[in-house]
Amino acid sequence: MRLPREVVNLMDSKHCKKLCSTSAKPKLDTASKLIMPELSAASKSASPEPCLEPKSASLEPNAAAPTLGYVHSIDTCGMVDGPGIRYLVFLSGCKLKCKYCHNPDTQRFNTGTIMTVNEIVKDIKLYRSYLKFSGGGVTVTGGDPLAQPAFLEALLVKCKEEGFHTAIDTAGYATASVVGRVLAHTDLVLLDIKSINAKTYKYVTNVSLDPTLDTLRISQKMGVDVWVRFVLVPGLTDDVSDMYKMAEFLAPFDNVTKIDVIPFHKTGEYKWRDLNLDYELWDTPAPSQELLSLAQGILAK
Ligand code: SF4
Repeated sequence: MRLPREVVNLMDSKHCKKLCSTSAKPKLDTASKLIMPELSAASKSASPEPCLEPKSASLEPNAAAPTLGYVHSIDTCGMVDGPGIRYLVFLSGCKLKCKYCHNPDTQRFNTGTIMTVNEIVKDIKLYRSYLKFSGGGVTVTGGDPLAQPAFLEALLVKCKEEGFHTAIDTAGYATASVVGRVLAHTDLVLLDIKSINAKTYKYVTNVSLDPTLDTLRISQKMGVDVWVRFVLVPGLTDDVSDMYKMAEFLAPFDNVTKIDVIPFHKTGEYKWRDLNLDYELWDTPAPSQELLSLAQGILAK
C-alpha cells in the first residue's frame, strides 16, 4: 500500500552537506591502501586529470571497472535523504551543470578517493544496527550517482545482498537501460526535477529534461517509490504556471509519495569562487516564505 503523498520543504543533504559533513571525507583512505593494495596501482592508472565536465553530456555510461568508483565523501548520519538515518555515499561526477549547484566541487569526474564496493559496504555494516533501528539505510548521491552507473549498480547490489534499504539521489540523466539496471536494486529514488518546462530545464542544467521524466516513468513501471525534489529559485524556477504544470504532470504517478520543495540558499556560493567558476546567481535571493508556501500549496494539489 502506498504512503500518502507529502509535500514538504527542506534543505537536502546536497544543499547542507558542507555544513554537516566537512569531516565526511571517506574514512577509509588509509585502510584502502592497507586492505586493497591493488588500489594504488588502479589509482595511478586512473585518469590523473580531474575534469569539470565530460567531453559531452552523453547519456552513455562510462563502463569502467564496476567495482571501483570515485567517492567524493561519506556521511554516516544523513537525516533527510530517505527514511530513517541514512549512510550517504557521495559519488564524484555529474553531467549536469546547474546554475544553482551548491556543490560544484562534486561535479568533477575522476576526483575524490578511489574505493571498492567491498570497502564501502564493509564500513556501512559498522552502522547496521542504528540504520536498521531507525528504519534507514543507504543513499547514494553525488554529484549524480548515475554518472558512475556500473559502480553504482555494483554498490546497490551489494547493499541489497546485505539487507539494506537503498536510495539514490539523482537527476535521472541516463539511458533507459542504465536506469532499469540501477532501479532493479533501488528501493527509493530521490528524483531532482529542476523544472517541468523543457526550456527552463535546459537553461538551468545544460541538458535535456526528457531522460529525467523517462526515469520517473521507468520508476513507476518498476514499482519503485519516488520522492520528487524541486529547488525553488527566485527568477529561475519560480514560474507559477510551470509549478502548476509540474503538479499536473506528477498527479498520475502513484509511486511519487513525497514532493520536497527545497529553497534556494546561498551557503555554497563561495565554492564557485574557490573553483574559479562563473556563477550567475550572486544577486539571487533565497525565496520568501510566501513564495515557498505558494510552491508547496501548488505541488500539494
Ligand atoms: S544535478 Fe545539478 S545540483 Fe546536482 S550535483 Fe549536478 S550540477 Fe549540481
